[in-house]
Amino acid sequence: MTPLCTTIAGSLPKPSWLAEPEALWAAWKLDGDALAEGKRDAVRLVVRDQERAGIDVVSDGEQTRRHFVTTFIEGLDGVDFEHRKTVRIRNRYDASVPVVVGAVARRHPIFVDDAAFLRAQTDRAVKYTLPGPMTMVDTLSDAHYGSREKLAWAFAEILNEEARAIAAAGVDVIQFDEPAFNVYFDEVRDWGVAALERAAQGLSCTKAVHICYGYGIKANIDWKKSLGSEWRQYEETFPRLAASTIDQVSLECAHSHVPIDLIGLLEGKDVLVGAVDVATDRGETPEEVADVIRQALRFVPADRLYPCTNCGMVPLARDVARQKLRALGAGAELVRRELN
Ligand code: ZN
Repeated sequence: MTPLCTTIAGSLPKPSWLAEPEALWAAWKLDGDALAEGKRDAVRLVVRDQERAGIDVVSDGEQTRRHFVTTFIEGLDGVDFEHRKTVRIRNRYDASVPVVVGAVARRHPIFVDDAAFLRAQTDRAVKYTLPGPMTMVDTLSDAHYGSREKLAWAFAEILNEEARAIAAAGVDVIQFDEPAFNVYFDEVRDWGVAALERAAQGLSCTKAVHICYGYGIKANIDWKKSLGSEWRQYEETFPRLAASTIDQVSLECAHSHVPIDLIGLLEGKDVLVGAVDVATDRGETPEEVADVIRQALRFVPADRLYPCTNCGMVPLARDVARQKLRALGAGAELVRRELN
């Protein structure tokens, strides 16, 4: 594997003919067969953009999903997504979410066809993202289980079935997104990491987790301002992940107040270091990306360091996201040349 293999955290903006641009949870502009075809065309475009930018482990940019959590939940039995409820999520903002009204179950594959389609679009390694169990629990309203932990375990088993099928479609990396790990530390300790491991149990591919400070939306930017001059949230979770069966940890770093030495707590793991800020429209220069990578190299060897984006880029304009991808690829290449 190339040293400083680049990848992205997950989402990329969708074309404006497919969904309302620069928005989370944006409504589709097509339906029926036209929507199915449009989603696949959008996947082709983001794969091409990543390849041209020099991204090594390519994602579908979540072009087939309205939202990284709720689109998965909506594929399950036991969930009412017509009568949504507005609840506070991540302890910070209100969102309209589906309601769990009975025992949750996966009666059919949800993203497996999409993963197989992504696999067929590129010769590069591919990554598929799924929500993590705790973040799923934190992105819905529960009227059945009455316990976040019990519901998380039910989701972990379902996620494991789905992940095994996605891995069998030839995907190289499955990443579980757990932004909730940066908020609910007692739950991370008590059952969060164990439920994540259950979701990833027995997978034949690389197992990753992404933990961030959220998309570049106002509620998250305001929250970050309240966190002080040093963000030490990862100090709680990284030692637990270092002792876990998870192979890779994706974290936010560029333009954050995360002390870079915290990645030293992930000994033995691959580290996907966020070298591109997703909370600004300003495009990084390759030199700025290279600078984050050089700092991270003080704590992680190059063959375990994956330059990445801080988080998903779905709320950004497409040209901004493409510029950031190019900076990521070019920044990693700058540092690779220094290593030789
Ligand atoms: Zn994220």
